[in-house]
Amino acid sequence: MIRAAFPGSFDPPTFGHIDIIERSRAVFDELVVVIAENKQKQYLFSAEERRVMMAGMVKDWENVTVMPCDTLIVELLRRENIKIMVRGVRNVTDFSYESELSMMNKALSPGIETIFMMTRPEYIVLRSSSVRELAAFDGDLSGLVPPVVADALRKKYSKS
Ligand code: ADP
Repeated sequence: MIRAAFPGSFDPPTFGHIDIIERSRAVFDELVVVIAENKQKQYLFSAEERRVMMAGMVKDWENVTVMPCDTLIVELLRRENIKIMVRGVRNVTDFSYESELSMMNKALSPGIETIFMMTRPEYIVLRSSSVRELAAFDGDLSGLVPPVVADALRKKYSKS
C-alpha cells in the first residue's frame, strides 16, 4: 500500500494541479493533497477556503484526501508515515527550484523521496499567480480553473 502526498499552496487550485493529482492517484494507492499554511506567506484564499475548493475538485476520487498543514511539510509526512512527496514541474525554472527544495527536504528527512511529474503541455504556463492576476482584471478563466474557483475569484476581487 503506497501513500504519497502532493503539497502546495493551491491559492487557488488550477487544472494544472488537478492533472498532477489525477495522474498521481493512478500511480499510488492513496494520495494526500496537503494544503500548506505558511505564516510567512500572504495568501488570497484562507487555508480553509483552499481546502474546501480542493476537496470539491477531488470529491469523486476515493483514493484522494485533502489535509491542511501549518507545520513543515516533511513533519506532516513523518506524522502520517508517508514516504513519497509528488511535485509538479513545468519548466527548468521549476526544476531548479524544486531540486533545491527536494535536497533540503532530503537533509531534513532522509526517509522521504520526492518524485517529480512533468506537466501536460497544455498547462505549461498555468500557475496560480497568473490566475490571480487575470482574475483581478476580470479576464476569462475558463480552461484554467473549474467554475467554482472562477466564481470564488470573482467574489474576492469584486469585494476589493
Ligand atoms: P503555483 O506554482 O501554481 O502557485 P503551488 O505552490 O500551489 O503552485 O504548487 C503546488 C505544486 O503544483 C508544485 O509542485 C507546482 O510545481 C505544481 N504545479 C503548479 N502548477 C502546475 C502546472 N500547471 N502543471 C504541473 N504542476 C504544477
